[in-house]
Amino acid sequence: MGLRFIEKNELSINVDYDPTKEFACLLGSPVAHSISPDMHNYSFDKLGIDAKYYAVDVKPEQLKEVLNEIRNVDFLGANVTMPLKTEIIKYIDKLDISSELAGSVNTIVPEDGQLVGYTTDGAGFIDSLSEINVTVEGKDILILGAGGAATSVIVELALQKANSITIAKRFNKSLDKVKKFAANINDKTNCNTSVINIEDNDILKEAISTSHILINATPVGMTSDKSLIDKSYLRSNLVVCDLIYEPAMTKLLKDASDSGCRYINGKYMLLYQGARSFKLWTDLNMPIEEVKDKFFS
Ligand code: NAP
Repeated sequence: MGLRFIEKNELSINVDYDPTKEFACLLGSPVAHSISPDMHNYSFDKLGIDAKYYAVDVKPEQLKEVLNEIRNVDFLGANVTMPLKTEIIKYIDKLDISSELAGSVNTIVPEDGQLVGYTTDGAGFIDSLSEINVTVEGKDILILGAGGAATSVIVELALQKANSITIAKRFNKSLDKVKKFAANINDKTNCNTSVINIEDNDILKEAISTSHILINATPVGMTSDKSLIDKSYLRSNLVVCDLIYEPAMTKLLKDASDSGCRYINGKYMLLYQGARSFKLWTDLNMPIEEVKDKFFS
C-alpha cells in the first residue's frame, strides 16, 4: 500500500506519519499554515477514530500522480485547497450539485470505488451564520466579488433558497463568465441572481437598501483599512458578513458595528466547512464547541 506521496513531501507534513492508521489529508500548495490538521486530528482523537490527517504540499503538475495513488489505498477522504480546487475536477469521477454549479471541489470522499467531489465552503459559510442567528431562506443578498469564495457561497445561498442574490463586481474581462454563472444558477435553482457594477455607487447604494444581508467576498480590507462600502449606506437591520478573518475586524465590520448591524467575519466559515467535510468522511459530527474553544477562540 503506497502512501509515497505523503512520505515524499516530508517537509509539508505537520504530523508524524503513522502507517497503521487510516488517513485523511489536505492537498494543495502552500499548506503548511493550515489549521485543518489540528482541527481534524483533535476531532479524530476526541471521537476515538483511529485516523490521522496530513497536510500534503501538492502542485498542479503532481496532482494526477497523487490521485492515482490515493485511489488504490483505503482512505477516509481529503480536503482540496488552492491552487487545485478547479484543476482537480478533471480527475474526479462524480460531483455533487454544489461542486458542479460552483465548478470547484474542496472535499473528496471515496464512495464505492469512485472519488466523489463536494464543496463545503458555501455551506460552511451559511452554517456560520447560526452564530449570529441569521438564516438565508427567503432573503435578498448582496455579495461583493465573484471569485472562488464568492462562487461557492452564491451556489449554496441559491440551493438553500435565498430569494435573490445580487453579485457586485467590476465590469472587467471576467464579466461574461460571471453572467453565465449567474444564468446557470437561475436555470438550476429558484433563486433570482443578477450582476451589477461594483464601481457604480448609485446602483450599489440602491442594492444595499433592498438587501437583508451584505457579504464581502473580496480581499479588500485584508491588508488595508479600506472598505468598498460607504459607511452611510449601512443601516442597523442589515446583516454584514466579511469572509476575511485576518484581521478579525475589517473596516467594513467596524462600520457595521458602529451602525448597529449584526455582523460576522470569516473565522467560523473555516470551522464549519471543516465540520461539513468531517461529517462526509466519518458520518459523525465534529465536536464543534470543543474545536471552537481550542482553535478558534
Ligand atoms: P479571488 O478568487 O481572487 O476573488 C476575488 C474577488 O474579489 C474577485 O471577484 C475580484 O474582482 C474581487 N476584487 C478584488 N479586488 C477588488 C477591488 N479592489 N475592488 C472590487 N473587487 C475586487 O479570491 P477568493 O479566493 O474568492 O477570496 C476572496 C476573499 O475571501 C479573500 O479575502 C479570502 O481571504 C476570503 N476567503 C475566506 C475563506 C474563509 O474560510 N473564511 C475562504 C476563502 C476565501 P473581479 O472579479 O473584478 O476581478
